Amino acid sequence: MVRVRGLHKSYGPLEVLRGVDLDVPAGSVTVVLGPSGSGKSTLLRTINHLEKLDRGHVAIDGELIGYRRSGDKLYELKEREVLRQRTGIGFVFQNFNLFPHLTVLENLVEAPVAALRRPKAAARAAALALLERVGLADKAAAYPRQLSGGQQQRVAIARALALEPKVLLFDEPTSALDPELVGEVLDVLKDLARSGTTMIVVTHEIGFAREVADTVVFMDGGVVVEQGPPAEVLDRPRHERTRAFLAKVL
Ligand code: ATP
Ligand code: MG
Repeated sequence: MVRVRGLHKSYGPLEVLRGVDLDVPAGSVTVVLGPSGSGKSTLLRTINHLEKLDRGHVAIDGELIGYRRSGDKLYELKEREVLRQRTGIGFVFQNFNLFPHLTVLENLVEAPVAALRRPKAAARAAALALLERVGLADKAAAYPRQLSGGQQQRVAIARALALEPKVLLFDEPTSALDPELVGEVLDVLKDLARSGTTMIVVTHEIGFAREVADTVVFMDGGVVVEQGPPAEVLDRPRHERTRAFLAKVL
């Protein structure tokens, strides 16, 4: 499970996260909503230590991310250690970020071989099974530029899964897609949710949140304003700020 406590993050004078607490139990789906600039991406980037936190901590399955504790002091981990931790935290971006010069299959094989030292044949077999799962077995030899945005995003999800992460983070995975391609990507996320993948999904897709989320978190101004089951947060929000936001996006 993912445990975030007292997370603070500033950029210069700008306080972006002002004490975020979050628990994501293993096998559950948390959807994070909030207005632009509320700190959603920063939260995800801090969880996998792409951004250093200023205060607080992040732990996954009890392991501190980015730090080790000695007595009551925290010490920063070496980059190599952080990279190892990051292989356990899948990250899917808005803009796919596939390697353009590698085929779809090579995109999936690269990290397991380089980071986890999987034998190449085993990594290829696993990659083909993942492509099957996201409905792209026939695209293994294609290059990213030959795929639609929805297909590229499904490859990006398969690539994240290839590292067998403990948790998958999604930052607006459908917001760069043409509307008719959103459904195929959300279907992959729904399939992952059903099979018990631990996920944190930043998205404005309220229908997806309603159908799939175990917990909906509403952030504003760098804090969690409210969180709970979708039926509570989306249908009976307790805070005015949540109501105002939902009135705009629904
Ligand atoms: P959006 O819905 O637009 O993606 P968000 O909730 O993801 O917004 P963040 O990207 O986390 O918001 O940004 C929160 C605030 O931090 C914004 O005011 C943003 O300008 C600022 N910010 C983010 N990254 C940096 C950075 N590297 N340097 C300086 N300021 C930053
Ligand atoms: Mg963002």
